[in-house]
Amino acid sequence: MDDLLKILVIDDDEIDRMAVRRSLIKAGFHVHIVEAENCSEAIAYLQETAFDCAFLDYRLPDQDGLSLVQHVRQLGIRIPLVVLTGQGDEEIAVDLMKAGASDYLVKSRVSSDNLARVLRNAMRVYQAELEADLANQRLRESNELLLHKNQELEIQRQQIQVQNIKLIEASRLKSQFLATMSHELRTPLNAIIGFSQLLLRANKSDLTSQQKDMIERIFHNGRHLLALLNEILDFSKVEAGRLSLHPQPMDIGAVVQATVEELRSLAQEKQLLLTTQISVGRAIVFNDPTRLRQIVVNLLSNAIKFTDRGSITVSVASSSPETIQIAVEDTGIGIPHDHLGHIFEAFRQVDQSRTRKHPGTGLGLAITDSLVRMMNGSIHVHSQLGQGSTFVVDLPRQVTVSPPLDGSNACELSPSLPILHPSSLNEAPQQ
Ligand code: ADP
Repeated sequence: MDDLLKILVIDDDEIDRMAVRRSLIKAGFHVHIVEAENCSEAIAYLQETAFDCAFLDYRLPDQDGLSLVQHVRQLGIRIPLVVLTGQGDEEIAVDLMKAGASDYLVKSRVSSDNLARVLRNAMRVYQAELEADLANQRLRESNELLLHKNQELEIQRQQIQVQNIKLIEASRLKSQFLATMSHELRTPLNAIIGFSQLLLRANKSDLTSQQKDMIERIFHNGRHLLALLNEILDFSKVEAGRLSLHPQPMDIGAVVQATVEELRSLAQEKQLLLTTQISVGRAIVFNDPTRLRQIVVNLLSNAIKFTDRGSITVSVASSSPETIQIAVEDTGIGIPHDHLGHIFEAFRQVDQSRTRKHPGTGLGLAITDSLVRMMNGSIHVHSQLGQGSTFVVDLPRQVTVSPPLDGSNACELSPSLPILHPSSLNEAPQQ
């Protein structure tokens, strides 16, 4: 062994100390040996020097080996301690080990081989203990780090929660503002539409053609504005979770057919072929006819708006014993692939330029999507740019009503509020 080992030998008997020294040297250790004759001398050495190992006699003049071991450990001195006991002292070996001794050896068995074995073992165990302590220390440190990170995350989570509450409140205020404003605006707007309609009907002969033209523009623009307001009002109610369904038994084929007929004139104006395919076995479903009509109106008016030539087909089929599928297929301009994932978001339009060809709020599909989800259904779109689009809605035959999102009294659209009629959206407003 090449490393110089610093060994402390604690024994009041010089012969015994010498025996240890000789045995170690004979075993081939390269040692620097310091000798102490009693406990207090040994403690003094141990406190000032870092030894690789200490051999101590169990019987010392001032204290016994057990007290010395305990004392050394109490002082926090880390060193392998090997106790040399007399014959017959083996029974106290257990106490010595418990007190922190690394090993013990009966004095009569001290030989270079035995001492070398005990020393190597003691140093190996001591080294392993040091490494284990280091690993434990690292574990404790990373635990503390994790704890710290956890605390930081918890603080961040709380901050996000506060921000969320603020955002929800801001969103609620926005929806409330939108609902109030559109409601307030509708009253004067209805007067404008009503009175311009009256003027157009009565005393036609009293009006010059220029006056008649101006009143017609007032009427059309008023209708357009009303349709936009209704859509915004609807959307704000959906967002605030204040829109409720009123399901009842209804003939789905009849409702879809009637809605298609309402919009047929718009398709005819663009010379589009509008057909229906109603092939449902049990046509009676349990749903809200007003909301179902609104879904069909939104999809069909879009199909008409975004189709310049060709045809539109509205079909109703039984997709499973429990579900009904409504599909609106057109041969229109189609939707670019990268927009397909966004068109159901509010205010999303493929063409968002101010000079866009097709007017609209960008809310129709968002409202449709919300209504379909309230009905526990789903909506999908397939589209090919320049070829056309198909919107497919799957709905359960039996719609159940879930409580309003905000727990408040859900309100429906006032009966006086007509559902968005697409005619005014398809007409570009006349200025
Ligand atoms: P709006 O029609 O008022 O713009 P929507 O929410 O109804 O708003 O539709 C969002 C966008 O999705 C439309 O602006 C249009 O770009 C696209 N879109 C919807 N339906 C069709 C369709 N049938 N064909 C082509 N594009 C469509």
